Amino acid sequence: MRIFEAAAPPFMKNGFVVACEESADAVIIDPGDEVDALLRAIAAESLDVKAILLTHAHLDHVTGVARAKAALGAPVWLHRDDLFLYEGAEAQGRMFGLAVKPPPPPDRFYEPGMSVESGDLTVDVLHTPGHCPGGVCLAVGPRGSSERELFVGDTLFAGSIGRTDLPGGDYETLIRSIREVLLQFPDETVVHSGHGPETTIGAERRSNPFLTDV
Ligand SMILES: [Zn+2]
Ligand SMILES: [Zn+2]
Repeated sequence: MRIFEAAAPPFMKNGFVVACEESADAVIIDPGDEVDALLRAIAAESLDVKAILLTHAHLDHVTGVARAKAALGAPVWLHRDDLFLYEGAEAQGRMFGLAVKPPPPPDRFYEPGMSVESGDLTVDVLHTPGHCPGGVCLAVGPRGSSERELFVGDTLFAGSIGRTDLPGGDYETLIRSIREVLLQFPDETVVHSGHGPETTIGAERRSNPFLTDV
């Protein structure tokens, strides 16, 4: 797998393009204000992006969806339980004093236990509510292999967890999602968070203060 990552002010939210090693098949994850850098990487590598995948619908993760969709023509995927946030993107922007155009409507909703296929890539969609109701983590790897890297949005960070004080957030639900879904992955699994550096499941299992039992 090849991974292209970018972030841009004001939110410094990480956006990703994940591409198959062999083919040009790719997906784009959470296009935000850094979308132009991601689109440049897609053009430079002649990647064929088959899906625009959203981990959740907070403003910082969706501000680049319209540009990504216009440039790539790929369907936008979202969890239905975050539709209220997605449709409220303009209102979220006003909270930050930002003029935000509403993103195009989602094309598809994730279903329980589903995977999204993009050529040689498989993306397992894991519902992990808590930071928001429709939060998902995306486990991406080559088709036919169990190798996965996790794109967790704002569910888990290196040394921290997502905030739970926004509409639809719930602390106990978030901790349960992390324990029952993410910590089931092997220690060496690489974790790409929506903000900050990457980490591994093992590092968070050992030292994340929200996850270690005292
Ligand atoms: Zn968020
Ligand atoms: Zn975020």
